[in-house]
Amino acid sequence: MNDSLKHQGLRNQLVKLLQEKGIKEHKVLEAIGAIPRHLFLDSSFEAHAYQDKAFPIGAEQTISQPYTVAFQTELLQLSPGQTVLEIGTGSGYQTAVLCHLGAKVYSIERQRELFKKAERFFKELPYRPKKLIFGDGYKGYPEQAPFDRILVTAGAPELPRALLSQLKIGGRLVIPIGRDTQLMTLYTRKSEKEFEKEDHGNFRFVPLLENKN
Ligand code: SAH
Repeated sequence: MNDSLKHQGLRNQLVKLLQEKGIKEHKVLEAIGAIPRHLFLDSSFEAHAYQDKAFPIGAEQTISQPYTVAFQTELLQLSPGQTVLEIGTGSGYQTAVLCHLGAKVYSIERQRELFKKAERFFKELPYRPKKLIFGDGYKGYPEQAPFDRILVTAGAPELPRALLSQLKIGGRLVIPIGRDTQLMTLYTRKSEKEFEKEDHGNFRFVPLLENKN
């Protein structure tokens, strides 16, 4: 895998930019500084990999903007060893960030082409998600529930109820909710029946797909 000093230099600049934009958690910044984002992009975009931008990854999807990845990861408040369900594997970049932070990651992707690509790609990487799943994130992953953390990386028109029920007590669900733009929403499970909800500003995501193949 080609990761050069030049790439490392560009990553350091990206980390600085994210700090300026308000990302504080040291471990999250460290992960962004360590993971070779250029390997997660098609080679035609490689030169731009360390700009704070989303880029196409095929199947009309995008790799999320680094700021968004950092922001969502910061909201999760993850500790090593926790189990995380990610909805929307896409390029696998966010998956790699979660693995780097020591999480046991289950990641679901709805599009076969992207799922296959991620499956092949992770074999070459030093990051080991517990499982990559081809399926529908609206349903979560009952086989391994409950999770300490759930992270949705596509815009959900509304809250998928299955996800709340698959959260441990004390667990956190980070999900962008809305149609044209999405409100970053954090749910914390306080007890069997009680959830606390916090809003964390507007973002723009590709939509969480329903009824796909
Ligand atoms: N975390 C990814 C973001 C990719 S964009 C990254 O860093 O690259 C969102 C992803 O969610 C896309 O790959 C899309 O195909 C996937 N997706 C959309 N609807 C889904 C659903 N219902 N279940 C699982 N994945 C879904």
